[in-house]
Amino acid sequence: MRHDFASDNTVGWCPEARAAIDAAQAGATPSYGEDPWTAGAADAIRDLFGTDCDVYFVFNGTAANSLALAALCQPYHSVVCHELAHIETDECGAPEFFSNGAKLWLAGGEDGRLDPEAVRVLATRRSDIHFPTPRVLSVTQATEVGTLYRAEDLTALSGVASSLGMHVHMDGARFANAVAGLGCDPADITWRAGVDVLSLGGTKNGMGMGEAVVFFDRTLSTEFAYRCKQGGQLASKMRFLAAPWQAMLADGSWLTRAAHANAMAALLADGLRARGVELAHPVEANGVFARFSSGDVRALFERGWVLHEVVNGVTRLMCSWATTADDVATLLGDLDDVSELST
Ligand SMILES: *Cc1c(COP(=O)(O)O)cnc(C)c1O
Repeated sequence: MRHDFASDNTVGWCPEARAAIDAAQAGATPSYGEDPWTAGAADAIRDLFGTDCDVYFVFNGTAANSLALAALCQPYHSVVCHELAHIETDECGAPEFFSNGAKLWLAGGEDGRLDPEAVRVLATRRSDIHFPTPRVLSVTQATEVGTLYRAEDLTALSGVASSLGMHVHMDGARFANAVAGLGCDPADITWRAGVDVLSLGGTKNGMGMGEAVVFFDRTLSTEFAYRCKQGGQLASKMRFLAAPWQAMLADGSWLTRAAHANAMAALLADGLRARGVELAHPVEANGVFARFSSGDVRALFERGWVLHEVVNGVTRLMCSWATTADDVATLLGDLDDVSELST
């Protein structure tokens, strides 16, 4: 079976991250993050954002998001997010669990992007003692459907949030793809646009595992280290989570690998459009959402392609650092074959 387009987490370490792991292998160092790689990686992240933020390394995105949200909320608060948000659909209630009961409130918005007015309406519909008061706005960048928020979109959302006393969290599992797609300064779509805390994705960027939690508002990270430890996220050999960050930020591969994934998605999208396949959302990062005929999806599966139909009739195809133009051509060739057979 071919899992190439099933997700952007089906492939392994990119060479730069892998080399960093091998280099960090050398010798004995202090454990639990007291090592030089962890300090170096946190400094590299501070340099990337051009600000003095607090940085923590955790194993995966669910932990990054749910521990970050727990740090921003009391159990009687609520978090406003998009109805397609990973924290709602794919984290098994971890944000509610780690926050000891904070509720998620779902708002709409075209193409996976929250609509500021929908957020305002949702967050202001009640203010009485019987209802959990909204305290956090969580946005996903790139969104779950492969679109991007521009800096001005984020500024509009954070303006609504701050007028209502809400913090802003960003799920950046695909943050590198967003920066590559927008060609912007990472600061412009985070702290300068009102983001307080970022879950910064490493896994889908080309690491084998590991995400960073970045607090731009350092007053919010008080005792966060204890949450990480209690949540099972304090790596004793933390250098292996940190070293790939240091390496990929130093040589720029965090961005070139993401730009490559985006370029492969654009190539795939062009090929699909040329074959008359309708796309459900604009392709702005590394995901393509295609409306295949159900016969074609089945026939592609029979030819070995594992693809996920995410909602009725929409199939998600993700590109990664490892996707090649040949992979794209092979998939499109198979699509030509199966659609010829079905006509
Ligand atoms: C992949 C992903 C995550 C992280 O998921 P884990 O499996 O917990 O690492 C978080 N948010 C989004 C939007 C994702 O796509």
